[in-house]
Amino acid sequence: MNLIDTHSHIYLKEDFGEDLELVVERLKQAGVEHVFLPNIDSSTIDEMHELEAAEPGRFHALMGLHPTSVKENYKEELEVVARCFEARDYCGVGEIGIDLYWDKTFVKEQAEAFETQVDLAISRSLPIVIHCREAFPEIVASLRKFDKTKLRGIFHSFGGSADDVEVISSLGDFWLGINGVVTFKKSTLPAVLENVPLERLVLETDSPYLTPVPHRGRRNESAYIVHTAQKIAEIKGVTVELVAQCTTQNAEKIFEV
Ligand SMILES: [Zn+2]
Repeated sequence: MNLIDTHSHIYLKEDFGEDLELVVERLKQAGVEHVFLPNIDSSTIDEMHELEAAEPGRFHALMGLHPTSVKENYKEELEVVARCFEARDYCGVGEIGIDLYWDKTFVKEQAEAFETQVDLAISRSLPIVIHCREAFPEIVASLRKFDKTKLRGIFHSFGGSADDVEVISSLGDFWLGINGVVTFKKSTLPAVLENVPLERLVLETDSPYLTPVPHRGRRNESAYIVHTAQKIAEIKGVTVELVAQCTTQNAEKIFEV
């Protein structure tokens, strides 16, 4: 069974500094062929590149400025992102978006940084990985400014309604990133996903966060993606192998690996 973790921050030394080798060993044993590593800001680039360089066929860096890192110095941060793209290729722009859960101070700047980076993705024909927290209307308003035939990517950590799925499908070529949240007892996602075809789903962990049951409460890691795949199989009434095959194909198509 081949799986792809489309969203993992296992490169963060603060969380995985001591046992990264074991984490990598476990994800290989779980059948995780590719791991996509979204950037956060200028402080995380080196450690992300370092993990990618250790095994470039398996670990793939994405470049972008995370919305919770959009502060007074966001223009300088965006320049760092632009310089990185001038220096080398990346397989996507991420993670980018708007997050109004933690802090609304920089809502205008967050939208501006998001749109600047969507532009960057379009100019390079790259997919975007969107972080959207308490900001769905804002994200939709931003994306509607672009030519939808040029937009493709992932709504990372999707947790919305059936109506949101409908809106997302009208914005461009988008997939829903599903993680451990779907395994939580009170999650409303299973009911929503019943009506979303597997062709529109990709798997992710968002390690070290959002750990699936039965590991909930502990640090998340890419190997645990298996539990999310199993839960989706249960929801859709299909085998876990089919979920793996389909979501892997989707991720390969999005990131062109
Ligand atoms: Zn993330």
